[in-house]
Amino acid sequence: MTEDQRLSPGTGAAWLVEAGGQVRISDVDGGQTGDLFLVPVDDVDDGLSNGRTFDYGGTIVPTTGSVLYSRRSRPLAWIVTDDVGRHDFLYSPCSREMYQLQYDATDHPNCYDNLTGGLRAYGVPESTVTVAFNFFMNSRVDDAARLHIDPPTSRAGDALTVELERSCFVAVTACPASVSNGGGGGGPLEIAIRKR
Ligand SMILES: [Zn+2]
Repeated sequence: MTEDQRLSPGTGAAWLVEAGGQVRISDVDGGQTGDLFLVPVDDVDDGLSNGRTFDYGGTIVPTTGSVLYSRRSRPLAWIVTDDVGRHDFLYSPCSREMYQLQYDATDHPNCYDNLTGGLRAYGVPESTVTVAFNFFMNSRVDDAARLHIDPPTSRAGDALTVELERSCFVAVTACPASVSNGGGGGGPLEIAIRKR
């Protein structure tokens, strides 16, 4: 059984996905990034962790076969398919404060509010969302350890699929940050949830 949903630019949503279920995220028009966050249903304080994922995976760019771990070192999901291979797991989700501080923009749509807003309906506290897997976001670290954000390499129809290792609340956003989206205003994402 498959549920499909289109995320409009700058929006997000959250779902309960049982263990063994898959979530496929497709870039509809190409060049669009977004955020993925996972919270195990049996412990809503134990969210996705970039540090634990780096610990056990040995890379800062998870891709096909990589496992995404929680803060308490539990495997939450693994990446089944990845058409893009470039993602960011260093930056925090864009937030209201970030747009205010960096762009002097008030009440800008943002991934943090969209992630926490979607998860709130499932009883997940805002404090659980500390990072996100910024899929298709093309960041890199240069030889001087400076961070750069390049335009996404995703093309129309490119997708990322994760399979849940345990039942989780899954939140996904279509990021509105123009710097992450090659200067564009942001596009939609197609989400397909396949139950086990
Ligand atoms: Zn964002």
